[in-house]
Amino acid sequence: MSGTREFIWLDGGLVPAGDARVSVKTHSLHYGTAVFEGIRGYYNSDQLFVFRLREHCERLIASGGMIHLDIPFSAGDIFRGVIELLRRNGFRRSVYIRPIAFVGEGDIRLDFRKHPKQVAIFAVPFDAYFERSGLRVCISSWRRVSQSSMIPRSKAAGNYLNSSVATIEAKLAGYDEALLLDEEGRVSEGPGQNLFMVSGGALVTPPVYSAILEGITRQTVITIAKESGREVQERPIDRSELYTAEEVFLTGTAAGIEAVLEIDGREVSGAQPGKVTKNLEASYSDIVTGRSTRHASWLTPVYETT
Ligand code: PMP
Repeated sequence: MSGTREFIWLDGGLVPAGDARVSVKTHSLHYGTAVFEGIRGYYNSDQLFVFRLREHCERLIASGGMIHLDIPFSAGDIFRGVIELLRRNGFRRSVYIRPIAFVGEGDIRLDFRKHPKQVAIFAVPFDAYFERSGLRVCISSWRRVSQSSMIPRSKAAGNYLNSSVATIEAKLAGYDEALLLDEEGRVSEGPGQNLFMVSGGALVTPPVYSAILEGITRQTVITIAKESGREVQERPIDRSELYTAEEVFLTGTAAGIEAVLEIDGREVSGAQPGKVTKNLEASYSDIVTGRSTRHASWLTPVYETT
């Protein structure tokens, strides 16, 4: 960042971080009525590349629509806001970018359709989400929010109480991460990541109707796996299938591609990251950092180059 002055994009323009304040009466603070995104920018060769920015901005708008939160900015406005924010802060390192659309100050009623809507975007330096690589995970006693009571496909703040309690439960039990099952008892996803397993050489991941968030990293992994000629199946996964899978890994913007080495006390792939996981991780890392130009359209460079 240039100096110590941090800027935040708030409701259409940049303001010093200290001025980006909201009231304790903010509706979202009370009821979780907000939608957000997690986006990453990768710094490489004097350039900051934002990964799949357009898709993240579009998912933000779609997430809002699903919960009746009409965002007063377009996906294009948010896209430009992110770039403006990163340029103004002058980041010369990798970052995590967080746009959030929320219901502002109104009355305490639950119907927020007429309440003011606000959008903030901030970015923080970021390298890795997990403290260590190669995860020990457990199946959570909590089920992933279901279609019958929530909207799992919306990246809505309220859904993340489910993710937080599952994460804390897993950490209290000494694991690195939780895996959640859906209402039917099938594998859904991690608290903030999608799940893949390798079974019979094919890449298998739960379908949208297993209450997942449709991850942009998930879509990226499906695309690059298919390009390399690997079979990809989107189908329900039983918990016990994970115990005999050849490889298991999690995917997410923050997590990247992270190998799972133990599930409920059972070793996966000999407690070493498997070949398929490692190859996908290498391709993914080459693509997001711009080392590979195979999917250059997925990257938005922040700085002008001469
Ligand atoms: N599931 C949940 C619940 C998440 O919070 C995330 C992170 N956004 C993901 C999956 C992965 O999505 P993405 O790859 O778009 O980051």
